[in-house]
Amino acid sequence: MHVFNGIEQLTNAITTAEKIRPRIEFDRFGRYRVSGIKGGYYTGIYRKDHRGIKAVECTCKGGEQGLVCYHAAAALSLHVGLARQKTAA
Ligand SMILES: [Zn+2]
Repeated sequence: MHVFNGIEQLTNAITTAEKIRPRIEFDRFGRYRVSGIKGGYYTGIYRKDHRGIKAVECTCKGGEQGLVCYHAAAALSLHVGLARQKTAA
């Protein structure tokens, strides 16, 4: 599990996601499937730990190593939007 403390890494991942523009499929709140460059889908999972820190997991190789990959970055904006709607409701 990776905690969002590397702003630079996250910024790079967002830049990559904007270039690649992967397809994002909603699975359920906090869980999204994101298309990979070579086909197939990876699953990005977002959650808060017991201290309320946002963390993300991805099923790709980078994610397994604790890196913020572009899959995670691509689905993050969707997740943040949904989380805002939830809080507002
Ligand atoms: Zn990934």
